[in-house]
Amino acid sequence: MRPPMKKVAIIFTVAVFLPSLVLAWLALRSLEDQQFVLERQQALLYSATAESLSREINSYLVKVRRGFTLEVEELLLKRTAGEVAPAFDELLRQRWPLAEVGFAVSADGELLAPPAGGRTEARRFRDENTLFLSNRQVVEAYALNEAIERSVFPPGDHAQVVTAQTQSQPPPSRSSFKGGKAQQLFRNVSPQNQAFSQQMRQPLPTDNLSKITLAEAEFRQMVQDARQGTIARFLQNRLNLMFWYRPPRDTNVVFGTLVNLARLTDELRPIVKLEPETLQAEICVALLDDTARPVAVSADKFRTNWKRPFVAAEIGKTLPHWELGIYLLDPNRLTESAQLVKLTLGLLILVLIAAIGVGSWLIVADLRRQLRLARQQTDFVSNVSHELKTPLTSIRMFSELLEEGGIEDPEKQRSFLRIIAAEAARLTRLINNVLDFSRLERGEKHYNFARCDLVALVCETLNGYRPHLETARFTLEFTMPGAPLIVHGDHDALAQVLVNLLSNTEKYSGERREIRVDLRVKDEPLPHVELRVLDRGIGVPKGCETKIFEKFYRAHDSLSSGVQGSGLGLTLARQIARAHGGEVTYEPREGGGSCFALLLPLPPQSTAPEPTLRADAVDGLADGPAPPAGHAP
Ligand code: ADP
Repeated sequence: MRPPMKKVAIIFTVAVFLPSLVLAWLALRSLEDQQFVLERQQALLYSATAESLSREINSYLVKVRRGFTLEVEELLLKRTAGEVAPAFDELLRQRWPLAEVGFAVSADGELLAPPAGGRTEARRFRDENTLFLSNRQVVEAYALNEAIERSVFPPGDHAQVVTAQTQSQPPPSRSSFKGGKAQQLFRNVSPQNQAFSQQMRQPLPTDNLSKITLAEAEFRQMVQDARQGTIARFLQNRLNLMFWYRPPRDTNVVFGTLVNLARLTDELRPIVKLEPETLQAEICVALLDDTARPVAVSADKFRTNWKRPFVAAEIGKTLPHWELGIYLLDPNRLTESAQLVKLTLGLLILVLIAAIGVGSWLIVADLRRQLRLARQQTDFVSNVSHELKTPLTSIRMFSELLEEGGIEDPEKQRSFLRIIAAEAARLTRLINNVLDFSRLERGEKHYNFARCDLVALVCETLNGYRPHLETARFTLEFTMPGAPLIVHGDHDALAQVLVNLLSNTEKYSGERREIRVDLRVKDEPLPHVELRVLDRGIGVPKGCETKIFEKFYRAHDSLSSGVQGSGLGLTLARQIARAHGGEVTYEPREGGGSCFALLLPLPPQSTAPEPTLRADAVDGLADGPAPPAGHAP
């Protein structure tokens, strides 16, 4: 690579290409986060849904507890607490279907109901709870009374959204609840999407560490001075939910009930549904019990790994370890839409990189062209100077020789004069070419279009050029129509094309100095004139066939070939031909050499005269009618 190109390449790489690659890399990296962003948005939306459902369930549970309170109040309307207490189990179950066992405890810790013996549930209740209710045993339980309720949950904040901060913790083991006074509630479920869980380490706006704590206390400590409350505790891995109420008229007895969870669940089921309906097509919500078993599901036929919801919300102290889990009906849909976004952005990045690549390539290509042109222009100046100098030197040398009068042989004198004339003609040609080229470049070249007999034009030009060719020992063959061939064109400009082509045959011929000129009419594809100039010279190197028509371009440079030139002859020839609606073409000649052709359109009325071969010299036709064909010298 040449130094200026190298510099441009380095600047380009540092200033454009590397920054583009870095940008593309950053963009690709941000694509990676797309899925997490989408999932996070979904999680926010669904968390709100879970939270609101959890709130509804909590309100409902409060209502249920109030229902129990009302039942007790009604029982106490006609009787005293002392009368009601012994038969409370029986009485409550008759009135309130959610009661599994009704119990009554006196202020000094005596269990007044259910009575000893009796039905199985009551017996088991006594076995499991007598010590606790009579304040002889400290147990771990989730206790709620009005006072705690108010301090822990401000009004309307029953639901605790379970956050990803607890999601990765292991499921709880009920038997391991031996810890301190306050233990963090463990979740049963783990996140559906591990990657998502990592992303979710950023807290959601509603995120909040669970406030539900496990207390270790006696029954009276849980009840305190409150009027009503809830105690939930696990016994042999089974949730026991109790509501209790201390009637204001007789505060010596606390009435309570062990809630029938199966019936309570039935009542909660209608709450576990999704609104608006559009959500039903996307997600399913399930109420999970403490073993992560779905007890109520919004979409009946939906099956999944219930332990891995997309997001989940705790219900609260009343139903500890119960959760509302939200599941994606089609977990792949989220991935697919993230993939789609990724794919679209990926393609966009690729297109942009491709655009940068193509743009860069175009810039570099243009730069190379400019550099080549600049180099050619420099070469052109030195070539033209050289071309001017050579004929001038000859002219000066021979004219000085003649002036000195030392040459007496008239034949030699004539030959010197011929050389002087030829060199002067060469100078004229060169200067004409340069002038014409600059006119063309400035758009100032004007043509004098008129009827023009091409046969006469070719004869005239060949006659003018022939002495020069003779001196250089060239043979010239030609074929021409026997009658005038009229085209619409500028006589001088067309003659200049022929002279340029002839001059090239002379310059680029090696040992075989044979030139042939053919003028003929062709009908295909449209009627046109073809003027071919052929030689047996060195030919145009492969790959340069079209470039030789570019300005300043030289396929054989002066240094390596020793042939002087400006790189303008063919450029001008083609420009002139095109101004006449024609073209100049090149093709290698069969058997070696070049074949350049000037193609010109024929005016519609022109007829194509038959070419006839004649062995006359062109010379004799200089001022007479055009010859059909010939051979010289
Ligand atoms: P120049 O002044 O260099 O001859 P031209 O525009 O006339 O400029 O030609 C352009 C290039 O085409 C030449 O430098 C040469 O390499 C090639 N060329 C033109 N004519 C011939 C030919 N008859 N034979 C071989 N090469 C040719």
